[in-house]
Amino acid sequence: MNVQEVLNWLNDFATLITDNKDYLSDLDTSIGDGDHGNNMLRGVIAMQQQLTEKQPTTIGDIFKVTAMALMSNVGGASGPLYGSAFMAMSKKANESEVLADLILAGENGIQARGKAELNEKTMIDIWFAVANALQVKQLTQRVIDDAIAATKNLQATKGRASYLGERSIGHLDPGTVSSGYLFTAMMNNLH
Ligand code: ADP
Ligand code: MG
Ligand code: MG
Repeated sequence: MNVQEVLNWLNDFATLITDNKDYLSDLDTSIGDGDHGNNMLRGVIAMQQQLTEKQPTTIGDIFKVTAMALMSNVGGASGPLYGSAFMAMSKKANESEVLADLILAGENGIQARGKAELNEKTMIDIWFAVANALQVKQLTQRVIDDAIAATKNLQATKGRASYLGERSIGHLDPGTVSSGYLFTAMMNNLH
């Protein structure tokens, strides 16, 4: 994993968010307030601007710039959560470049802030699944797709979707889908 690969990863993440902005907001319309696509788009635009301006030269600094951009531009519940993930990854990157370690650190960062446990129909679900798959070198697109699909039959007990109670069942979790784009982009760029 080198600096250019990480920049390409984040750039592809921004592209996937841009291309799927309406889909993400539609998912959020079903069980939230319909802004997740727009929230994420604002974040990745700021991320790309700041990565271009600040020209970070280490993986830790790339994640730090990303954390700040997402934290202050995504908004909603997901902004601070993505920000915490990348801030934790930034710290971890200064001691390890093992991807499994980085994603696990990111997952812990989200949990420290959002207090969600597994199977509460939040993005934690996919970060956990991907961290585990990386640990045993079994990450495939299938793992990502399955983690997304698995949120459908869960009842949300954290975040805005939890206000719906049982009516949150039967819909995908938007934050899990956006995190899925992050991990698809990661798989396509890190070798
Ligand atoms: P908001 O709900 O404030 O409008 P977004 O729509 O941008 O924010 O993001 C919603 C997503 O945030 C959810 O789909 C879920 O994945 C994630 N989320 C919400 N609360 C939590 C939490 N406590 N822990 C982890 N993820 C959460
Ligand atoms: Mg929302
Ligand atoms: Mg909102």
